Amino acid sequence: MPSKVYFGTARQSLLEAKETLPAKLDLILEQLHLRERVKDERVVIKMHTANNIGYSTLHPVFVRKVVQAVKDGGGKPFVADVPWDVAGAEMRGYSAESLGCPIYPAAGPDEKYYYEHQRPYKNIQSWKVAGFIQDATFMVNFAHVKGHPSNGFGAAIKNLALGCMAGETRGRMHDSMHFDQYWFPENCPDPATSIPQIAASCPFQAIVEDKKAPGTMHLHMEQCNQCGRCLKVAPQGSLKIDKVNFESFMEACAISVSETMSTFQPGKAIHINLATQMTPLCDCFGFTGMAILPDVGIFGSDDIVAVEQATLDAIANTKLIEENIPLAMEVHFREGHPFRQLHGPLKDPYKTTEYAEKYGLGSRIYELVDIYPLVKVERAALPYTSAN
Ligand code: SF4
Repeated sequence: MPSKVYFGTARQSLLEAKETLPAKLDLILEQLHLRERVKDERVVIKMHTANNIGYSTLHPVFVRKVVQAVKDGGGKPFVADVPWDVAGAEMRGYSAESLGCPIYPAAGPDEKYYYEHQRPYKNIQSWKVAGFIQDATFMVNFAHVKGHPSNGFGAAIKNLALGCMAGETRGRMHDSMHFDQYWFPENCPDPATSIPQIAASCPFQAIVEDKKAPGTMHLHMEQCNQCGRCLKVAPQGSLKIDKVNFESFMEACAISVSETMSTFQPGKAIHINLATQMTPLCDCFGFTGMAILPDVGIFGSDDIVAVEQATLDAIANTKLIEENIPLAMEVHFREGHPFRQLHGPLKDPYKTTEYAEKYGLGSRIYELVDIYPLVKVERAALPYTSAN
């Protein structure tokens, strides 16, 4: 049976508050029966409180509605995020006063409060699930949708995958992209000449000499859009731009979420994606640029895979607003999903969701339920005389 995903469009028919997204969030929370499900539960609202002067993640108006619903239902809510984003969250409008509940660093202020889960994957032996996350009994996963430099797209899965792990695991997850070999020094007879030439060929400064191992090369996967310029300069067989490296992070994200969600009983989680002000990069970057896609709306489900798939499918029906893309980025690939066009062919935003399904986190088959469909606005049949 398909998983239900409740959807509220960002578009309005009428100029009324009840047709705007915070009101539609209320309707989605009703459909998900949040109030009826949280009595006496310790409810973590996992959101990204952003960083520095970024202002495009969830507005407090939305978070407050979730907090209120949890309180109405007799639950005990708190917001959790990584420590350096919680420190200074008040600068971006998030405080106990504005949200109506406390905000905690998920693994404590020094990231020393966590539970270790043994599960070997490439360079990761154990997953350090943040203590305040594992101690919670109900999860409200509330994510802002945007692009992501490693897996093309960040929303519900990314919000949990990185945000529910202690710092060491987050670092290892990023490093997993370097686990599979991509630089083959035996095929580069003159590294002192070739590496600077290869580095200079990349317009995104994605290639540098490896500081830890002079004479070898380091590829900053996040900055790479797989344009292939470097491959034209690199000696034959010395460099690979391979999907295995990019997909390692995507698979690690799915495994991370499966470890976190294993600490919650079945039925003790909801997942919400707010697809507005979608910028090219994740909210960790500490700034907000122009939106590169039109606002789509808000999605909610019990199924994290279904909510991601529905969100991606809705975005797939939109087009990149190319004049808003930062000049430092380029769109050289024009096939498939808009986020794939932006971040390159090997950063397919659907891939993480596919891994999440593979690891049993939910289903990509969904039924989309529009909780407030647009209505036709009737106009006079005859043209009118302009006031001008
Ligand atoms: S593929 Fe393009 S973006 Fe990636 S490292 Fe090579 S030159 Fe840079």
